[in-house]
Amino acid sequence: MATTGVMEASEKGRRSEDGLFVPDYVFFEPGALEYPLGEELYRRYQREGVPIQMTTSHNQVRGIPGETDVEKYRNAKRTLVVGVRKTLKFEPSKPSAEYALPLATGCIGHCHYCYLNTNVGSRPYIRVYVNTDEIFAQAETYIRERPGEITRFEAACTSDPVSIEHITGNLKRAIEFMGRQENGRLRFVTKFHHVDSLLDAKHNGHTRFRFSLNADYVIRHFEPGTSGFQQRLEAAGKVALAGYPLGFIVAPLYRFDGWEAGYTEMLEKLRQQLVPEATADLTFELIQHRFTKIAKSLILQRYPKTKLEMDEEKRKYKWGKYGKGKYVYANEQAKELQHHLEAEIARLFPQARVEYFT
Ligand code: SF4
Repeated sequence: MATTGVMEASEKGRRSEDGLFVPDYVFFEPGALEYPLGEELYRRYQREGVPIQMTTSHNQVRGIPGETDVEKYRNAKRTLVVGVRKTLKFEPSKPSAEYALPLATGCIGHCHYCYLNTNVGSRPYIRVYVNTDEIFAQAETYIRERPGEITRFEAACTSDPVSIEHITGNLKRAIEFMGRQENGRLRFVTKFHHVDSLLDAKHNGHTRFRFSLNADYVIRHFEPGTSGFQQRLEAAGKVALAGYPLGFIVAPLYRFDGWEAGYTEMLEKLRQQLVPEATADLTFELIQHRFTKIAKSLILQRYPKTKLEMDEEKRKYKWGKYGKGKYVYANEQAKELQHHLEAEIARLFPQARVEYFT
């Protein structure tokens, strides 16, 4: 039976037989063609007959078709923009890392609650950067600025890097770069199962590979366009067997009817099916659902049938930086979520570490 989370073929865009993203439109910044990866991608899409246009800046791409804002949004999510990352000042990425590693922005998924709805705002297209040597050189500078300390980089702040890895190979480059850094560590999170090209990367244990998981209800209703629970779980097993430190981010923690049983069921399935190798160094990160007023209006515009509950009256307003706050669960409800998840994780994964609840 169809639910709001089941994606119309037209919404999902083109995928290969393996479920890999295939863009409908591709834009290049002229400068990107001066890098081997840019040139390679240009030749690839020319060969495949994907319509290519040039754009003066990856920040302002004009010409993505669509009559309405929603149509433009959907088409933008099927558009690949190949550019050069000029700003080499990395954003902070608390609480999971010191810095965000900028490899890409935008995502092919259509998770209703996704913070990218506002974070990349009017530029929801998929941007990938080809000047990785410059980006890694900057990361090295940040690592050197903290001698004797571990510096962590998060590669999934503005994108799901696994979903586009078949296009650029940048994630593997980043993993191997960080494998060579004594004091550098990489982390990223994904909702996709396309991990095979990363299994032989020389990670040296310096990359924590995390999967985003959720209760069946949340995945079914709010995560169209991503890999299913079972696929993510199988991919997590492969990643653990490849020797990566593994983690799960359970986010957004969402209070649907029967949420306690739903989250218990999810963790029990995980316990039953996860390969034993994965539990040796396992982390969990817990993030409750949150939204802003701007996000709410964009979500309702883009996914008008969504069941996502965003009633400000039922939530607590949490002030953030620069006066920009968000709506989270009221203290009591947040505590219930935290206690339930932490207790179940302790019961089922006694060696695992919960890194934070936020
Ligand atoms: Fe957003 Fe992650 Fe879903 Fe992509 S997979 S739409 S980044 S929540």
